[in-house]
Amino acid sequence: MTLNPYLHAAIEQHKQQHLYRQRLCHDGAQTVQLHIDGKTYLNFSSNDYLGLASQPQLIAQAQQALSQYGLGAGAAHLVTGHQRPHHDLEQRLATFTQRQQSLLFSTGYMANLGVISALINRHDALFMDKLNHASLLDAALLSRAQVHRYRHRDVSHLAQLLAHSTARHKLIATDGVFSMEGDVAPLADIAALAKQHDAWLMVDDAHGLGVLGNKGGGSLAHFELSTVDVPILMGTLGKAFGGFGAFIAGDGLLIDYLIQRARPYIYTTAMPAAMASALIMAVDWVEQADDRRAHLHQLIQSFQQLANQKRLPILASDTPIQAVMVKQADKAVALSRRLFQQGILVTAIRSPTVPHNSARLRITLSAHHQLSDVERLIGALTA
Ligand SMILES: *Cc1c(COP(=O)(O)O)cnc(C)c1O
Repeated sequence: MTLNPYLHAAIEQHKQQHLYRQRLCHDGAQTVQLHIDGKTYLNFSSNDYLGLASQPQLIAQAQQALSQYGLGAGAAHLVTGHQRPHHDLEQRLATFTQRQQSLLFSTGYMANLGVISALINRHDALFMDKLNHASLLDAALLSRAQVHRYRHRDVSHLAQLLAHSTARHKLIATDGVFSMEGDVAPLADIAALAKQHDAWLMVDDAHGLGVLGNKGGGSLAHFELSTVDVPILMGTLGKAFGGFGAFIAGDGLLIDYLIQRARPYIYTTAMPAAMASALIMAVDWVEQADDRRAHLHQLIQSFQQLANQKRLPILASDTPIQAVMVKQADKAVALSRRLFQQGILVTAIRSPTVPHNSARLRITLSAHHQLSDVERLIGALTA
């Protein structure tokens, strides 16, 4: 078959299954009000949990650093792309996560590919929660390790799989906060199992950092787990930190090894130094954002309470990620469209992002929302 008929058929099939995706183009910064085609929408579909993406002082810092360090880094870190702000940000993130060192990656997706493919290969075994983020699944494929997927948050299933494994190296990888459900991994139990079975443990805390734990220290702070319990921590800088990029934090030895071996680190251009410079300041903001976190957690509780009163089919979640389970993709799309017509932006999440027939509305709350915004959302969902 020639290319175009093949593409056409594939897209048509996607449309028939209500899985066709389109992008929204909006005209301003990422905030709780988005401007689309001249109209204003109340935004419940951003990962900017603390509202830092539009923070004027962080933007001013980036502008100043742009003049000083230029537009692009111009090279990979190991060539000449590693500028002072990158270096300082790595140290700041190490202090923030209470680890020896950290290593910047251009995106979280690449950090996951990088660390997993550098640590394990086809002689090894990787243990993953069934609902782990897509980037961890892709990292598993790239590593060519034998993959064992345990039932969502099911520690006894994980224990069983670990006990049966004879692999040379065992790596357990889990989301800290699950990106499409908003629930938290049982990290203390998983860390205990890792220790018992001599397995390495990695936590992807894209949605926990800045939101959970003392000073926004994330899922590991929430469970008071150390580098000994969880030697490999992945964090993203495009969510609660309001910027772009990602990092791995751990012992100096781990970071040194990754610099040698993580191909998505080695063979890509460093993030712009202006971004790194603004992010150094963003880490301070995250640490000092107790008021924002308190407000956010109030909104989370209000959402759960109101949604339960109205018997909306929500998942239990203490994080800004709130899922309204719709199941069928077409219904999820229809509900999302209806909200859009009322000026509310909530994306429908469908396969393959979530398992087939578990389509949902994924609502994310931000410290910039007001209680009245949540009430308006609940009203629209139950109308
Ligand atoms: C967003 C996300 C990533 C990817 O991070 P990017 O920086 O956006 O590439 C990885 N893991 C999880 C759990 C995420 O939610």
